[in-house]
Amino acid sequence: MSATARDDAATKILLDESEIPTHWYNVIPDLPAPPPPPLHPGTHEPIGPEALAPLFPMALILQEVSSDSYIEIPQEVRDVYALWRPSPLYRAKRLEEHLDTPAKIYFKYEGVSPAGSHKPNTAVPQAFYNAAAGVKRLTTETGAGQWGSALAFACAQYGIDLEVWQVAASFLQKPYRASMMRTWGATVHSSPSDLTEAGRAILAQNPDSPGSLGIAISEAVEAAMADEETKYALGSVLNHVLLHQTVIGEEALLQLAKTGDTPDLIVGCTGGGSNFAGLFFPFLREKLAGKMDPQILAVEPEACPSLTKGEYRYDFGDVAGMTPLMKMHTLGHDFVPDPIHAGGLRYHGMSPLISHMYELDLFEAEAINQTASFAAGVTFARTQGIVPAPEPTVAIAAAIREAEACRETGEEKVILTALCGHGHFDMAAYDAYFAGELTDYAYPTDKIADAMSRVPVVDA
Ligand SMILES: *Cc1c(COP(=O)(O)O)cnc(C)c1O
Repeated sequence: MSATARDDAATKILLDESEIPTHWYNVIPDLPAPPPPPLHPGTHEPIGPEALAPLFPMALILQEVSSDSYIEIPQEVRDVYALWRPSPLYRAKRLEEHLDTPAKIYFKYEGVSPAGSHKPNTAVPQAFYNAAAGVKRLTTETGAGQWGSALAFACAQYGIDLEVWQVAASFLQKPYRASMMRTWGATVHSSPSDLTEAGRAILAQNPDSPGSLGIAISEAVEAAMADEETKYALGSVLNHVLLHQTVIGEEALLQLAKTGDTPDLIVGCTGGGSNFAGLFFPFLREKLAGKMDPQILAVEPEACPSLTKGEYRYDFGDVAGMTPLMKMHTLGHDFVPDPIHAGGLRYHGMSPLISHMYELDLFEAEAINQTASFAAGVTFARTQGIVPAPEPTVAIAAAIREAEACRETGEEKVILTALCGHGHFDMAAYDAYFAGELTDYAYPTDKIADAMSRVPVVDA
């Protein structure tokens, strides 16, 4: 492509407020086979929707098991989405120029939300449906703090209380995420805490425990179960979360159509799978309908490679084994990943829906190491200006590699990615990278084998 064509192309493609999607897209009815059901942890029998009723309001449970292709977004949710949606689609022209590539790189920027990531796309409807059901208080866990702050913002919109258990290590290292949650009215506890049985048990063994996501989940679930008017919310993994995130892809479809381009490659980062799903599900619908044929690629960190190295089998969603058994790519429910800085990608499993679709060969996956990811994040920041959160840098690294390959072939490949959050609360991680202190953890063969030995055996 000539430099003139790049100069003439739009830098950012914006939509009107009236173009905020009216419906979320449910991919399940379009799949060649439905995903396997969740099982009761004790009996190993499929569980019905009512098993989830103590934790979630019925509107969300119905979305979790829905076979409707489209679910209408309530006006009260669209009103809050309008605070930052539609989010911009950018053409990364300055990055393309720097790479001297004929490829076109587009990124959908979700860092414009109040909490700075894609997570409010689901936090807002989750808070709305709970408030509508008369729930007075939500509980949740947060690791790096992105989910906790998204839900704190959302609960403030509908006047319900929120209690957050934040993993102790990140509570200490990222104090401003907790400040943000408190500003929106939430109560934040360092986890393990002495407020729950689960927390007290851990503290009795180790008063200085740094905590883990699994422990924080156990505390938040226990607190929700203990109170009639309290429910629990989860920020990734579940079908209804992936559903809510499809506003990303629906908007991106409209925006790309305005440029006249169709994607040749869609690439996203996967922790629990929600931002990747939100971006690619609507494009997959078009692909299955024969309207486009993009390659679709999930990228995960080498230190926590659930899709590329995990086994596809039933496992628990949490460390304590309190959740239903879900069939997913797992590294073992008590596997504790090395402390990479992309905290949002440190989950032992993968969304069961994404796992099922991976088995159906509907997309590809690969793993990238931490220093390569940060190098890509720095290149992105120095050309496009936005400092990415550590999580999306794995996808940016893959996008840059693909664009560089086009330099050799001359292919004007159209690459689309989601920049799912900014990194303003992660600057210590960038400092560690500049100081040469980031470690590329090798694939933790022994730790994963050990964790897999405790995954329950379920007869098919
Ligand atoms: C939480 C988070 C992730 C990981 O979650 P997914 O469900 O895989 O999207 C990735 N990026 C950011 C910025 C996050 O906040």
